[in-house]
Amino acid sequence: MAEPFVGGEYVKGLGLGRLPVVDPATGEEVDSVPVCGEPEVDAAVRSAGEALPGWQALPAARRGEILGEVARAVMGARDELAGLLTSEQGKPLREARIEIRRFVHTLEHYAGLAKNIRGGYVPDLDEGAYGLILRRPVGVVGAIVPWNFPTTLLANKLGPALVAGNAVVAKPAETTPLTTLRIAGIMHEAGLPAGVFNVVTGEGPEVGEALVRHPDVRRVAFTGSTEVGRRIMELAGPQFKRVSVELGGSDPVIVCPDADVDAAVKGVNIGRFFNAGQACLAAKRVYVFDEVYDEFMEGLVKRVSRYELGDGLQKAEKPKIRMGPMNRTRYRDQVDSQLEEAVSRGARIVYQGEWSGSKGYFFPPTVIEGAPHDSRVVREETFGPLLPVFRVGDLDEALRLANDSRYGLGSSIWTRNIRWIHRAAQEIEAGMTWVNQLHYGYDELPFGGVKDSGVGREHGPEALEYYLESKSVVIGGLD
Ligand code: NAD
Repeated sequence: MAEPFVGGEYVKGLGLGRLPVVDPATGEEVDSVPVCGEPEVDAAVRSAGEALPGWQALPAARRGEILGEVARAVMGARDELAGLLTSEQGKPLREARIEIRRFVHTLEHYAGLAKNIRGGYVPDLDEGAYGLILRRPVGVVGAIVPWNFPTTLLANKLGPALVAGNAVVAKPAETTPLTTLRIAGIMHEAGLPAGVFNVVTGEGPEVGEALVRHPDVRRVAFTGSTEVGRRIMELAGPQFKRVSVELGGSDPVIVCPDADVDAAVKGVNIGRFFNAGQACLAAKRVYVFDEVYDEFMEGLVKRVSRYELGDGLQKAEKPKIRMGPMNRTRYRDQVDSQLEEAVSRGARIVYQGEWSGSKGYFFPPTVIEGAPHDSRVVREETFGPLLPVFRVGDLDEALRLANDSRYGLGSSIWTRNIRWIHRAAQEIEAGMTWVNQLHYGYDELPFGGVKDSGVGREHGPEALEYYLESKSVVIGGLD
């Protein structure tokens, strides 16, 4: 049975009862974790607090070395971790292996930035006085992570937090705690000091809120839904905690008449259906110019019809591409009701895959057209393999519709027209715009949203800023 990881060990006997962890492909229980609450959070935060002085006393370069060493150890356990991830999350093994590789890449990225943490020097502030700007770690970080990419979204927080000298208490999602717990043990065995990274398990409203409320947690890094992000800000605000919230998205994609339509089809197909559509950065609304609409739709349906739904642990037969189940019945039902509402209001199903199995939380990949722009597939985030496509007449219309959303995470445009590229980059209200590229979050570039998609940035050196405080020091009187 999996147990919380606190102070460098798996601690038995914690919590009130246990939470089953279920394989979404079969509905069968694979393990369970304790339902933690305030006492367990307090113990984990105390352990992190005790580890802080030793961790902060290390030269940043040494912290970077340790991060590199533990990243290599995680890579060494890639197959085991990918299997665990598939069994609790549902994604095909191939995607799980990619995810573990990304976890490692992110830690390595921050390990490499360790020597670049710099402060400042301001000369001649006053007669005989100068200023220093110190960069100090914030302290104990509470990291709350969702289930769609449980490990990469953890790495986005862990990498910059640890290299900057903070200690972390993580709370994985209810349905996907196992890989995170295993990673914590591997990282400790590979040299991460006890207490620097702790993991508590349980229900978001109890253990998650206890973590956000804890007075010794000075920084909260949250990824999840917009609704819970709002709650996190309400809780953290009165204590003036440093907060970043990476939230939902409804990324628009614009396909112009001069686009490489094949490339756009490939990009949209992966961008929408990777991870069974359960991604924040994903092609969620596609606006295709009249001139290339039919060609785009024909190509898209051809590709989407190659998916075969099934248990992610089994190997896919070529040329079929395996798509796993959705992680929760709740999300499958939500996508189903979004589709039903769109269809009841005049949308047409252009393609829907097949699923005849009786077990698991599967939803077949679905492409629709003609949905009203105030229907739920546009207003809400569609967190599953459902894609609405819209016909547009010109760029003004495409940009207006792209911005007709409360979300602003990613976006893309497929064109070679440099003026249109500039307009999209300037005018789309989003944290990111890709041009003729897949919606892919590079570690090197800041990543985050505007509007209801959140506050703050992960990835890149920019993320380090969120784990450091500036302290000004004036030095005088030395003459
Ligand atoms: P969620 O908000 O329900 O849960 C996210 C995490 O918060 C989980 O660990 C959960 O246990 C915890 N939680 C729930 N209620 C809480 C509370 N009251 N206080 C503290 N913690 C609480 O989201 P989800 O369903 O797990 O994930 C899907 C959502 O995450 C989607 O909206 C998706 O777009 C978003 N997401 C955003 C990004 C991004 O970087 N912008 C990345 C991935 C996913």
